Amino acid sequence: MEFYNKKVTETVKKDIREFLKQFDIRVTFCKRGWSCADGKNSKVRILFFKDRTVKGVWSDVFHELMHVICYRTEKYKNYHHGIFVRGKYSSKKTGKYIRKMGIRAEIYVDKKAQELMKIYFPDIPYITSYRTKEDRDWYRKWVERSYPLK
Ligand SMILES: [Zn+2]
Repeated sequence: MEFYNKKVTETVKKDIREFLKQFDIRVTFCKRGWSCADGKNSKVRILFFKDRTVKGVWSDVFHELMHVICYRTEKYKNYHHGIFVRGKYSSKKTGKYIRKMGIRAEIYVDKKAQELMKIYFPDIPYITSYRTKEDRDWYRKWVERSYPLK
């Protein structure tokens, strides 16, 4: 079996931590929920449990890394600087913005993440996010829950 199709082990955590150091990013791991990025504080959280594959976890790492890079380079600035800062915008304004731009920003991030992973790890297939209807439905539900319009 290809190494990237194997389930993760504790060593993978160390590799990820080392890898992200060069970008000045700290990482924590969680067993449930989902991976996410905090660009402002240069932190990412990666979903990590024993049934996840190496390629799945590394794809998450690059996706979240790209969110931090977008924060720093001000790509989709309102998305990266605005939506996760509670109270900065009225929730209604944020809610409207994220409904309009959220998926576009996520797909941009995911494509760039895929390109970047190909440079560092050409042998590991990237697992895409937000490209299927299922993924987009998940996102829409998350938005409706997190940013209700009333
Ligand atoms: Zn994302």
